[in-house]
Amino acid sequence: MKKPFVTLQQAQEIVKKYPTPFHLYDEKGIRENAERLKTAFAWNKGFKEYFAVKANPNPFLIKILQEYGCGCDCSSMTELMLSEAVGVKGRDIMFSSNDTPMEEFKKADELGAIINLDDITHVEIVEKTLGKLPKVMSCRYNPGGVFQMSNGIMDNPGDAKYGMTRTQIAEAFRMMKQKGVEEFGIHAFLASNTVTNEYYPQLAKVLFELAVELRNETGAEIKFINLSGGVGIPYRPDQEANDILVIGEGVRQVYEDVLVPAGMDDISIYTEMGRFMMGPYGCLVTKAINEKHTYKEYVGVDACAVNLMRPAMYGAYHHVTVLGKEDASHDHIYDVTGSLCENNDKFAIDRKLPEIEMGDLLVIHDTGAHGFSMGYNYNGKLKSAEVLLKEDGTTQLIRRAETPKDYFATLDCFEAYRFLG
Ligand SMILES: *Cc1c(COP(=O)(O)O)cnc(C)c1O
Repeated sequence: MKKPFVTLQQAQEIVKKYPTPFHLYDEKGIRENAERLKTAFAWNKGFKEYFAVKANPNPFLIKILQEYGCGCDCSSMTELMLSEAVGVKGRDIMFSSNDTPMEEFKKADELGAIINLDDITHVEIVEKTLGKLPKVMSCRYNPGGVFQMSNGIMDNPGDAKYGMTRTQIAEAFRMMKQKGVEEFGIHAFLASNTVTNEYYPQLAKVLFELAVELRNETGAEIKFINLSGGVGIPYRPDQEANDILVIGEGVRQVYEDVLVPAGMDDISIYTEMGRFMMGPYGCLVTKAINEKHTYKEYVGVDACAVNLMRPAMYGAYHHVTVLGKEDASHDHIYDVTGSLCENNDKFAIDRKLPEIEMGDLLVIHDTGAHGFSMGYNYNGKLKSAEVLLKEDGTTQLIRRAETPKDYFATLDCFEAYRFLG
């Protein structure tokens, strides 16, 4: 059973201060998980997690992770600016972007970030943009084909727009070395939301073997290997959570098997996890405001897909708990909907739930990553607040809700704007 990290009593107190809907984050859960990650990779001297800012660009949360040694993985101008504002700078920033505008390379370099090139054509573009290549650089690898794990989980790197082919990455390393790069890194992201302890070790094997080959072929000094994101979380109640300690140990074994015998035992392991760091430690708190009985039973809530896009966009499952009715019989079948004029604006379809009454508070689970951050303003809907549930049980507003004034702010070129604002 999936249990929310907030009780009905707590939620009733919180909604007095912050009206629904809002994303609520669990400070205790974030901290315990970050600590476990540190332990899992303590065997690797240079280990660093670069939190994928796109998963949750809230500076308060990034600051918590910073206490555990995490840096930031950025892929846009504003993500770089956010990292700078939070005080994450220099080599604590990994710039893993694609289809990159030139000025973003410039900004990344100004901040001293490690630039991770998505494509071989960027070698010359970066050189031209910056005058010369930075001393430390990384390249993103795409082996093509399919990436398959033993339990049937697979993904399709061959269809993905990211990364360089095997031939290209060797050529890129040669060019970069000749242009003065001294320290090299390798990066790959080959499968998403993997709910298995196998993914990182299997990816590590691919990248470690590649590292040995590239060193032998090009003489490049490889200093770090970036396993990127992709470690999943159990969105469904019947899924078993990954054990990061098992994952860390799995990577260590491959390191011993492949890198140590090749004399490459000083390579740092980097990660760029987003979902695993934050996903389970956020939820969307929303209120039932309408019921409708037509060809199906509908419960309408005050949140909608602009607050959490994953169900509408990917058909993703997010568990729903009706607070205070955790133990009640789940003998009703509902579609839980938002108010967008889009039929895919449903948080749950044909979901077995306890009987829902108007005013009930619902928790939509696992919204801590790729939740608020994917928000948009369709139908003129406004983005919600974000609230931190602190370890001592108190709450802190870490982002206010948007107001109509925010929505109209970019219309300051419209003469009647003053009536709207
Ligand atoms: C999205 C992304 C991540 C984070 O992925 P998760 O699945 O959230 O862990 C890391 N690195 C890059 C380059 C990404 O695009």
